[in-house]
Amino acid sequence: MIDEFLELLIVIIGERWMPGVSLMTEEDRLRKEIIQLLCIKSYSHSELSRALPDTTGGNSDSVFEDVINTVATFKKPVGADRKGVYVLKESLFEEFNVYFYHYTKEDKSKAEELQRERRKAKKELVCCPPPMLPQLTPAFTSMANILQCNVFLSICTLTMDRALDIRSRSFSESHVQKILHLLGFAIQEELSEHYPFLSFYERAQQFGILDKLDELARCPRLEAHRDFVLWTIKRYKDMQAKQAPAAAAGPSGSQKKTAGEEPPLTSEEQARQEKETRAKLAAERRAKIMAQMKSAQKSFMKSNAEMFANSDLEQDSISTGASSSRGAASSMGSTAMDWEDISDESLEDQGAAALVIKQNPACLGPNRAHYQAQENSFKCILCFENCSINPDGPPLVSSAFVQTSRVILTTPSHYKGKCGMHVSCCGHVMHYKCWQEYYSNEESKEQRRLHRNRLALSQGHNVEFHCPYCRALSNTVLPVSEPLVGLIPGGLPGVPPAVSSESYLPLDCFVEIMRTLAGELSAPAGDNTMWQYPSVLRRSNVIGDLAQFERSVQLIAKPQLHATCMEVMTSFNKALQNAMISQQPNAVTEGGVGGEAENPYLVFDTCSYTLESLEIYMYTMRKPLKVEMPMRHQTCTTNLVRACALYSSWAPQRPELASKLLDTIFNQKGTSVLEWDCFRMLVQLSFGVLNLMVRENEHTFLPSGSMFDFYMMQTMFLANVTKAVICFDVEKQLDSRRAKEEAGMAPTELSQLAYVEQLPSKIQENMVAFYRRYNVPSRMRQLVQQKESEEKHDQSQSQSQNQEQTVVIPCELQHLALMLEYVQCQMRAFLRCACLFYRCLTDVEFPDTFPTEQPDRFDLMCQYLGLDADMGVYFDMETVYATVMHNFASHPHILRQAEQCSLRYGDPVEVLPCLRPLPELKPLFEDYSDLINSVSDIFCPNNEREEMKTPTMCLICGKVLCGQSYCCQPELGKMSVGACTHHAHSCGAEVGIFLRIRDCQVVYLGRGKGCYVQPPYLDEYGETDQGLRRGNPLRLSQYAYRRIFMQWLGHKLHEEIARLNDNANVAVRQWHHM
Ligand SMILES: [Zn+2]
Ligand SMILES: [Zn+2]
Ligand SMILES: [Zn+2]
Ligand SMILES: [Zn+2]
Repeated sequence: MIDEFLELLIVIIGERWMPGVSLMTEEDRLRKEIIQLLCIKSYSHSELSRALPDTTGGNSDSVFEDVINTVATFKKPVGADRKGVYVLKESLFEEFNVYFYHYTKEDKSKAEELQRERRKAKKELVCCPPPMLPQLTPAFTSMANILQCNVFLSICTLTMDRALDIRSRSFSESHVQKILHLLGFAIQEELSEHYPFLSFYERAQQFGILDKLDELARCPRLEAHRDFVLWTIKRYKDMQAKQAPAAAAGPSGSQKKTAGEEPPLTSEEQARQEKETRAKLAAERRAKIMAQMKSAQKSFMKSNAEMFANSDLEQDSISTGASSSRGAASSMGSTAMDWEDISDESLEDQGAAALVIKQNPACLGPNRAHYQAQENSFKCILCFENCSINPDGPPLVSSAFVQTSRVILTTPSHYKGKCGMHVSCCGHVMHYKCWQEYYSNEESKEQRRLHRNRLALSQGHNVEFHCPYCRALSNTVLPVSEPLVGLIPGGLPGVPPAVSSESYLPLDCFVEIMRTLAGELSAPAGDNTMWQYPSVLRRSNVIGDLAQFERSVQLIAKPQLHATCMEVMTSFNKALQNAMISQQPNAVTEGGVGGEAENPYLVFDTCSYTLESLEIYMYTMRKPLKVEMPMRHQTCTTNLVRACALYSSWAPQRPELASKLLDTIFNQKGTSVLEWDCFRMLVQLSFGVLNLMVRENEHTFLPSGSMFDFYMMQTMFLANVTKAVICFDVEKQLDSRRAKEEAGMAPTELSQLAYVEQLPSKIQENMVAFYRRYNVPSRMRQLVQQKESEEKHDQSQSQSQNQEQTVVIPCELQHLALMLEYVQCQMRAFLRCACLFYRCLTDVEFPDTFPTEQPDRFDLMCQYLGLDADMGVYFDMETVYATVMHNFASHPHILRQAEQCSLRYGDPVEVLPCLRPLPELKPLFEDYSDLINSVSDIFCPNNEREEMKTPTMCLICGKVLCGQSYCCQPELGKMSVGACTHHAHSCGAEVGIFLRIRDCQVVYLGRGKGCYVQPPYLDEYGETDQGLRRGNPLRLSQYAYRRIFMQWLGHKLHEEIARLNDNANVAVRQWHHM
């Protein structure tokens, strides 16, 4: 009761920030509200405008802006993901009123705590004294009388007496605090001299207030409020000093008091000093504990250094990469991206590096290094028992997530409708048995959930679950298997591989065998003994014995695989098919796989697509190969590649697919090298061919870095080189160099010129000949010129009839140098993917010479793969390389290509460049209002008269759709869905990123689920405005947009949707109507 009464008094006296009650304006009132709010904490712009009571809402925003700028300073956002906040100006903390009427209990204690800490830090009295009050209007002036009436003063003295009386049971600290607050009001009112009738000083003397305050200051019971008492005494004395002239003439008692004031004060100060020393001791104790904690933290960070380093790196590259990737020219010709510019410098120390290279290990070829056995013991995350990978132990798996993806297929037009399969895997290991138990639990939960929501489990449905350890979204498992080399008897560590070249078949024999095999496989007879290797060897006229061949391919006895391991792979394949069916119902059957049958090539393509995506992701993050990869990438590639290799030794055989592949590569039947994805074909070749040549159940080829594995890689490497040489456009390169020089940049050295000059003239000539014969852009130009000259020739026929003029393609040494430079640059994606792939296959680590800060180098990657980095070798007619390249280049498609392009008839071959254009999201307007304007004249395709109600932009391709609207409800399968869901199905392979333009919201959509994420437009306070409620001007935040981009590029949208829905526990929305 007393508490409430005192509080009421405080409100009556203190809450007068209201026009009409005291002399002030509406702005002053707003100002007071803001000050009080900022005393609780620093607010961001939107939080502040939301937190202000609605009665002030009558103010226009501009008033709010004006006021806020007088009381607070805006602190710009520190990290790009933080919001900017307002901080109260230092001097205004004096206006803080702890009993502010609009404070909740929580606000009050927060604000009080903050003020105390602030004052402590400034070595001021630690208390929350009342603020100066504004002057009352004449109508309310008499209210000041409350402060000098008998009742008020009696209450004050009574409360103080109770506080001093140790036996009093009605004492309460909060009473004293409130009384002190009220006394403070009274003293300050007196000091303000607003009210001539107020004579609080005299009245207070009559009641002996000062004496009581002095006593309170010494009272141990009020230790916590001593500073407040001291403050009150100080203010009281200020008042006294002001009254001094009057008091001097008054009773001498008061003067005596003023004189005798020093001693008590010093005793008070002593008390303060004591308190300070106590505080000091406490602080020392705290510091000691903090130091202990810090050292513990440090040692933790040291032992987990990689983790911290990685997270730093990731952060860095997000922020630094933000500006560069956007707008980087991605046309085929200009591949000189920011990151690659560095490589010019790094090439300078190539000379020094060349010495080191000789000792570097290769993972393939005749100089192949041994693999180092690694520790492979784990703890099962479900039963916590130790487990290690070995063929005799129980099978292990790791949860994985498969999804259809078009992320790296979005840019060139001819990918239309195609999609790949992507796998991600967190890498946490569990027993297959433990997982099965866990999974059947999750499955029945899912079924109950679907039942509750009255949904039927569709046929091609992968049950989703979370990794029991890290909650990563999953829908299947991958087997965790030992290093492949460990399964090969001769490949075990310590057993040197036979190096003499006679023990292997050479590359040309390999090519010959592959050619013959292609023919045998396509033979109509169903006799599969035809294509077994002894017979193939005979037919291909290869000189050499069977043992040589067996050594070259590392024929081994079929490893004893767990039946369960096969079960896992079969179910993995099934999961891929399910995912594929829901995206492209026809694709699976088209490939000749009638419904149930397994298609091993689906697994192999998944492997190549996942690795290619990872390469592009790492490139965008500016990460070279040697950099420590996050565990989920590391284990995902290892598990996937090993699983594919094991799978290849017993997977169902598809001779017709293998024959088509071999015909394409070795016999010039089918597509030309221009249309190939060389890495994808390499993976198919590595896994899908050799095992056709052995009788089942006896022996097997396990792709793990045999000589034939090496030849396959060499072949595809040559194919890629051929493609690069054919596509090289000398004019474009010269133009871009000229443009660079004109832009004021130092002319870049032709890094390969010196190399070309020292080549034997025969090889130079070969290069020139190859270039003149096959290079498409220069032949196109030649044809055009020839035609022109022929026309001229026709006109002046009479003059010179005798000779047929031919235009010679110019080709100087510096052109060759440019070409080699271009080729090396174009090999990046293929080589990086191959390095990732063969590291998993052979378990030979990348050498230490691989850069960790700079882009990967052509020569080092070649070295690792056992390839010759010396480009001249490939143009030497004496070697088989040149023959292979001529074969690739003389494909009829390529010969036709130049003519078609120059004469413009027929469909030109759709060239798949060596370097895929980097995926990009749609570039957005800098200013949000420009974006809104840009869609103002777009109409609904189904209703041409009306403006689109909810224009929604696909951020992957930029198309604007009618989102969540009844006018546009296309059918997908047999269900009518929203335009966005329909679009996402084809544009992003079942996943989409949409910007709802009218309300500035970004939506991720995926397989009937969705979530809202932070839009990339922010106001000047660094905040989003979802729903455009606040109406501040919005600008594009590159950082926020980059974050969306990286999530998309890293295939994390499904995961993000699941995570946000998991946390928010939102009611199931009908996302498919979006
Ligand atoms: Zn277990
Ligand atoms: Zn996990
Ligand atoms: Zn789209
Ligand atoms: Zn519409």
